[in-house]
Amino acid sequence: MKVAWTDFQMCAYAIAFDADRVSLVARLRQAQDSRAICLTPLSAEDASLRLTGAIEAVTKPPRCALAWNNIAARQWNRIGRRDRRPTWTNMKLTDTFIRSLPKVLLHDHLDGGLRPQTAIELARDQHYKALPTTDAGELAEWFHRGAQRGSLPVYLEGFAHTCGVMQTEESLERVAYEMMEEMHEDGVVYVETRFAPVFHTARKLHWDDVVSAVLKGLERGKKDFGVEYGLIICAMRNMQLSREMAELAVDFRERGVVGFDLAGEEGGFPPKKHVEAFHYIQRENFNITIHAGEAFGKESIWQAIQWCGAHRIGHATRLIEDIGLDAHDPT
Ligand SMILES: [Zn+2]
Repeated sequence: MKVAWTDFQMCAYAIAFDADRVSLVARLRQAQDSRAICLTPLSAEDASLRLTGAIEAVTKPPRCALAWNNIAARQWNRIGRRDRRPTWTNMKLTDTFIRSLPKVLLHDHLDGGLRPQTAIELARDQHYKALPTTDAGELAEWFHRGAQRGSLPVYLEGFAHTCGVMQTEESLERVAYEMMEEMHEDGVVYVETRFAPVFHTARKLHWDDVVSAVLKGLERGKKDFGVEYGLIICAMRNMQLSREMAELAVDFRERGVVGFDLAGEEGGFPPKKHVEAFHYIQRENFNITIHAGEAFGKESIWQAIQWCGAHRIGHATRLIEDIGLDAHDPT
């Protein structure tokens, strides 16, 4: 397989997992410090972002009738293109400067960014006893440590706690609303956040109720903070419910859901096992993004595009293994 660099366009930089989501700015600074800021063309250093940030790559041209990616492309053209070949990787970026830039965030995990204090309060309200600590500072540290252990499966363990305290409509709405507030504080003008409804039914909420509660929080946040949003419904690679999740996503397309994603552990769970769900989405002219090429290799990216018709790829950091940079390539 050969995926040319020109088939991809970096669109946004996002945090993948953070106990205090405000650190999007810190993440950008960290990326800059490691010379891996990704508003520039992909470089070898970007591989270092695997567990500290998430990239959403957009396949082009958009193959979707609804031109999902055009929303992002317009923002990209407006705010990013003139800086496409920048020298500003060497600039000193201050928090204030980064915050002031209008940003489009295409890859955010709703259940990956709870405020520690919120997680503690929600755990208390829902009688969730498994949090490692009830001290907000220690909890933040615990999550940060988990995100830096160098293993995707280990890193995903933290989601058991965040999902564990998001089992009521009130808690889902609160987390969505607070996320919008933090996007506003970070200077994000458009955010697409994602989550897997199957993890929020421990108290017998129906999937429809789960999605409705999140959308309620997002809409309230939009009104209060002026941030535009879209919601992406995730199916899990290692579960059987991808077709049901695809239908759920399409059912809510008029109410704020903008796409369908496949997430979770990659090794042993190839995306082609879920082609039925993706064919359903394609028949409905809806939008597909797939987590691929993160813990598993470039073959995962190939399958996501060729078998499943992905309009976008989440993370895709292993793409670096299949890129031949041409010195004469104007991109
Ligand atoms: Zn992700």
